[in-house]
Amino acid sequence: MKQVLVLGAGQLARMMALAGAPLNINVIAYDVITADVVHPLTQQRQSLSLIEAIAAVDVITAEFEHIPHAILTLCAASGKFKPHPDAIKAGGDRRIEKTLLNNAKVANAPHHIINTRADLDTAIAAIGLPMVLKSALGGYDGKGQWRLKTNDQIESVWTEMAHCIAASDNQAIVAEKFISFDREVSLIGVRNANGDIKTYALSENVHTDGVLSLSTAIVGDITLQQQAQQMFAAIAEQLNYIGVLALEFFEVNGQLLVNEIAPRVHNSGHWTQQGAETCQFENHLRAVCDLPLGGTELIRPSAMINILGQDSLPLAVLALESCHVHWYGKEQRAGRKMGHINVCAATPEQLQYQLMLLGQILPQQYFPTLPR
Ligand code: AMP
Repeated sequence: MKQVLVLGAGQLARMMALAGAPLNINVIAYDVITADVVHPLTQQRQSLSLIEAIAAVDVITAEFEHIPHAILTLCAASGKFKPHPDAIKAGGDRRIEKTLLNNAKVANAPHHIINTRADLDTAIAAIGLPMVLKSALGGYDGKGQWRLKTNDQIESVWTEMAHCIAASDNQAIVAEKFISFDREVSLIGVRNANGDIKTYALSENVHTDGVLSLSTAIVGDITLQQQAQQMFAAIAEQLNYIGVLALEFFEVNGQLLVNEIAPRVHNSGHWTQQGAETCQFENHLRAVCDLPLGGTELIRPSAMINILGQDSLPLAVLALESCHVHWYGKEQRAGRKMGHINVCAATPEQLQYQLMLLGQILPQQYFPTLPR
C-alpha cells in the first residue's frame, strides 16, 4: 500500500483517491485553507498534523497551484514532493509561466508585466489594444482579469488594477495581446521520472462566464494533436516534470498558442474517467508513485459537462445510455463546481445526439452549452 498526501482537499484530490484505491494507493489530503489533514472523500479530519502527514506518506503531490510557498518548501524538503515545486510555482504565477513558455520556445500571446501606471503605457505601446490584463498571482476561472479595448477605459481599468496590485504582496499584472481565437482546446498528458510521456486526445473547451462548461474529446485531428504534443513535450521537459500536466491553448487558423499551464489534473480531462484507457487521476498517481504509466488512448467519443451550482439532477440523466454522474460531495453554492457528467457514445455523431438528449432534460439556465 502506497500513501500519498495531496495538497488541496477538493474534488481533484477526491477523484485521485477514488482512482488510487484499486492500485492500493491510499490518498489523504491537506486542506490548505483550514490547515487540516482530511479524508478526501468524507472531509473528516485526520488525527495528523501536516508535519506528521509529510513523515507518514511515500509521496506528496498537489491538486492546485495556489499553494503558499512556505508549505511547498516544507513538503519539498522531505524529498517526496512531485512534480518539482518550480512547476507548481510556474502554474501559480503568470510571470514565471510566461518565462517558462518562452524558454520552452512554445507560441504564446505577447505580454508585458505591469507594476506601475507607466508600465501600462509601455504595455499599450508594445502590445496595442485590445488587450487582456491578468493578475500575476491568484487568478483562476477568469477572476482577476480585465479587458482593455479603448483608450477611454485606461484610467478606470488602471484604478482597479492598482487596487489589485496593492492588495497583496508580490502582485503584478500581466498584459497580454487579445487573441481572436477560433476555439479553446487543452491537452492533458503525463510524464514519469524516466521521461516517458503519454498524452490524451485534445479537448475542445467551451466556457461560460469564464468557467469551463463543456469539454469534448477531439477525434481524428492528427495535425493539431501532434502540434499540441510537441508543445507538451517541450514544456514538460523544460520542467523535468513528473505527473499529469495540462496545457490550455487558443487555436487560431489551425495554429496553437499556449494560454496557460496547470501543473495538475485538470477539469477538461475529466472525460478520461469514462473515455480513456486510464483516467488522468490514475495516471497522475502512477507517475508520482513511480509506477508504469497507463494507456491514454481514447476508447470512445466522450464529453464532460460541468454541474455548476446544482446539487441534484433529474433521474432521467442516469437513465440515459453512457451517461455517468460524478458528484463532489460539496455544499451547494451558486456557480460552484458541484460535479460533472461524462457522456460517451460509439461515434461523434451519436455523442452529439446524446448531448442533445441531455439538453432536453437539463435546464438551459444552468447548462447553457448543451446543444438543444
Ligand atoms: P485564463 O484565466 O488565462 O484561462 O483566461 C480565462 C479566459 O479568458 C480564457 O479561457 C479565454 O477565454 C479568455 N482569455 C484569456 N487570455 C486571453 C487573450 N490573451 N485573448 C483573448 N482571450 C483571452
